[in-house]
Amino acid sequence: MKREKGLLIVLSGPSGVGKGTVCGALREHDTHIRYSVSATTRAPREGEEEGVNYFYKSKDEFQRMIQDGELLEYAQYVDNFYGTPREYVEKMIHEGHDVILEIEVQGALQVKKTFPEGVFIFLMPPNLNELRNRIEGRGTESRELIDNRMNVAREEIDLMDQYDYVVENDKVDFAVERIKSIVTAENCRKDRL
Ligand code: 5GP
Repeated sequence: MKREKGLLIVLSGPSGVGKGTVCGALREHDTHIRYSVSATTRAPREGEEEGVNYFYKSKDEFQRMIQDGELLEYAQYVDNFYGTPREYVEKMIHEGHDVILEIEVQGALQVKKTFPEGVFIFLMPPNLNELRNRIEGRGTESRELIDNRMNVAREEIDLMDQYDYVVENDKVDFAVERIKSIVTAENCRKDRL
């Protein structure tokens, strides 16, 4: 049974909760889901690649994308802008593919306004200490930046109620299984046929 439109799946949650890792693992397990690559003004981290992890933009280029309506949503996060290029997502959904966006909470709430039929999943850290350990363990951020990210994380967790599903990321494999079950269930909903 093939649906005409794909699902828009929004995976959100605080930075450092492991959205990237969970998405990467999901990608290996479920090759049918399409992944949206975001635009950002932040500099690439070591090992990141243009067009794979992000499309890296100057602040002017990003501003132009906003003005030309090229972004489905965007948000300023700590000192940088992040946004979802609209064209790819809309094309995939109309072709019947499920698409996943891995984005922070403000952006997720914007998508909820324009795509209320989306599936909104909040990835939850087992606890805040664990979250700090994960951000510190990455070794890429200064102490001040880590403190900022922790403050944002506390605010983000307060917005959990706005989501359809909450998935604890206690272990990546468990989180992936839970997300796959959610996607399967959503695809079986009779109101989506
Ligand atoms: P990072 O700098 O660690 O790659 O990402 C910082 C935060 O921005 C993460 O929470 C990440 O999920 C979020 N993010 C990545 N791409 C987008 C996007 O296109 N839109 C929004 N709103 N957030 C994004």
